[in-house]
Amino acid sequence: MHYARRKPSAAQCGSCGAALSGVPRMRPTQLKQLAKSSRRPERPFGGVLCSRCSRARFKTLAQSL
Ligand SMILES: [Zn+2]
Repeated sequence: MHYARRKPSAAQCGSCGAALSGVPRMRPTQLKQLAKSSRRPERPFGGVLCSRCSRARFKTLAQSL
């Protein structure tokens, strides 16, 4: 019999802790086999902040300019 390793928990937002969508739940070796574009959303803070927090961050960054 061959036991499958457990999936890691979903990636979380660095600001609010919500589960990130668009980041697959995979072991690091499997994650490396994917294309970089399918590992996290392709936008600033993609894979770090959730969409709501990144949108808020863009606003504060735009105001500071
Ligand atoms: Zn968030």
